[in-house]
Amino acid sequence: MKDIKRYTVTSALPYANGPVHIGHLAGVYVPADIYVRYLRNNGKEVLFIGGSDEHGVPITIKARKEGVTPQDIVDRYHNIIKKSFEELGISFDIYSRTSNPTHHETAAEFFKYLYDNGKLIEKVSQQYYDEEAHEFLADRYITGTCPHCNNEHAYGDQCEACGSALNATELINPKSALSGNTPVLKETKHWYLPLNEYDAWLREWILQGHKADWRPTVYGQCKSWIEQGLQPRAVTRDLSWGVKVPLKEAEGKVLYVWFDAPIGYISATKEWAKEHNTDWKPWWQDESSELVHFIGKDNIVFHCIIFPCMLKAHGGYIVPTNVPANEFLNLEGDKISTSRNWAVWAHEYIEDFPGKQDVLRYTLTSIAPETKDADFTWADFQAKNNNELLAIFGNFVNRTVVLSHKYYGGIIPECGELTEYEKEIIEKMAEFPNRIGECIRHYKFREAQAELMNLARLGNKYLTDTEPWKKQKENPEYVKTILHISLQICASLSILCEPFLPFTAKKLQKMLNLNNKNWSDGGRHDLLKTGDKLNPAEYLFEKIEDETIAKQVKKLEDTKKANEAENADVIPAKEDVTFDDFQKMDVRVVTVLAAEKVAKTKKLLKLKVNTGVDTREIISGIAEYYQPEDLIGKQVLMLINLAPKNIKGVDSHGMVLMAENADGTLSIMQPQKWMKEGSTVK
Ligand SMILES: [Zn+2]
Repeated sequence: MKDIKRYTVTSALPYANGPVHIGHLAGVYVPADIYVRYLRNNGKEVLFIGGSDEHGVPITIKARKEGVTPQDIVDRYHNIIKKSFEELGISFDIYSRTSNPTHHETAAEFFKYLYDNGKLIEKVSQQYYDEEAHEFLADRYITGTCPHCNNEHAYGDQCEACGSALNATELINPKSALSGNTPVLKETKHWYLPLNEYDAWLREWILQGHKADWRPTVYGQCKSWIEQGLQPRAVTRDLSWGVKVPLKEAEGKVLYVWFDAPIGYISATKEWAKEHNTDWKPWWQDESSELVHFIGKDNIVFHCIIFPCMLKAHGGYIVPTNVPANEFLNLEGDKISTSRNWAVWAHEYIEDFPGKQDVLRYTLTSIAPETKDADFTWADFQAKNNNELLAIFGNFVNRTVVLSHKYYGGIIPECGELTEYEKEIIEKMAEFPNRIGECIRHYKFREAQAELMNLARLGNKYLTDTEPWKKQKENPEYVKTILHISLQICASLSILCEPFLPFTAKKLQKMLNLNNKNWSDGGRHDLLKTGDKLNPAEYLFEKIEDETIAKQVKKLEDTKKANEAENADVIPAKEDVTFDDFQKMDVRVVTVLAAEKVAKTKKLLKLKVNTGVDTREIISGIAEYYQPEDLIGKQVLMLINLAPKNIKGVDSHGMVLMAENADGTLSIMQPQKWMKEGSTVK
């Protein structure tokens, strides 16, 4: 075993074209944070690195769609993402971004070093070019017909209808997304990293070296990539947004986002080192440093094969000891999707559940997709809070601290003679730091947290078994011992829960007047001193009510409905009518004079309107979408010669015209400018 002096821990750079959601948190950031907090609590030297990945084509596509610059897009999301992480207690030492000058410099230098030392190969290839936009087209900017399934909206790299991976040149009838024109093939030169030259090294390092300690999914994916035969991989692209290729002949080219992004970890380290007046190099170049990458399973090839080959090609760098990639997290049985808005967004959770960061962290760790895909449901979230955090952990701490205040005015009572039972409790307690730590060191965070809860269960059971509230009169000396031991278990919990529940740890340590203890202290039964004073009891967790959960479920249902409406088939056209038929409809511009809800109905409003011809009352079924005050004074279109009908006691004469979405949403029709009442519509 090598002597590890420091830990360089990275977490995948979130892509800055959207906020982060629970899938990101469960897959990467919460486990990475547990790991680094554990190491720090053990007195280890740790650097926890994060940052936003701000280059690549999807960002330029989004910017074009919104009519803003790519920098506008990444500024917006970088700030949202950074804030979400801070609020959830993800304890980065630095959270940087790849649009920073230090990163551009570092990535360009890295490329130049490989180029100068003959580690890259040059290749000329034919690529699609838009002659009107004067740009080579990234795969995502080319659409056409899929040669496999005839889907007319396939992209240059993939058909989303049949899932085939494509080359842009395979598309039938290709079109440029920039101009709509047919692109032409044109020669372009790019630089490639010859991954095939690292085959023997990868086999030795991964296939032989990490058979036992890397997760099966990670190892399996690497094995399959290596055995399929590695090919040279382009590290440059024809694009304007990104790190410019530092060569004269490479005008208009940038580093491929997958080449520049992992170098972002190194750039961030440089920034951090500069701020702290220290050297960045040991973290990346000293053999006594341990490098660990936390990522999702979609990033395995980049972190286990491509980035290590880049580091190996450069020389002088360490390669990762482990890459504990997670599987995916689903939401209520469905794949999380940014484009379909099917997600629980971190920034929205923080808004909807203030002060409950630890409940989310706890839930996500308890279902962590470590070995297979997992599913987040709101019902489970509620159960985890109410039945575990509140009923076990919170209940134990609360009973202990409240009784100590009630019996001893908050002064820690002395420990009397120990019975066999107390001795057994103390012995069990002593095992937890190592038992939980062992799981964390092996990246089994789900199991580690379950062990933490076993400690809370031990405390809870001890109180329930000994029932101090019944013994206070007959045996007050023994009650002192019970509460003394229970308080020591609370102290132990406050230390060992810190990586998982950092906000709770802080609250609990405040109650116990305990500061900054080392991990191994979590097994001691003499941490709190007899005679020391406790602070007042505070609730660590509170019940989450059904209504709160129902609101979140409703939010998702609304999203589902909106998606269905978005994708719904348009109602087919009706039969033709003659102009005379149309002429029979008397549609006019009318002004709403008064509006009120019709009692005992959900959908109906009674409107008084000036039609220009007369003033009349009508009933309209729009109360779910418009409040009476939204309509008063508004001009709308109305069919005024619809035969009268008695609705809820009103002779309703006419019909307000409305557009209706597939999900039933209604929108009134208005003239674009003010028109005199009674103006005809034709
Ligand atoms: Zn297809």
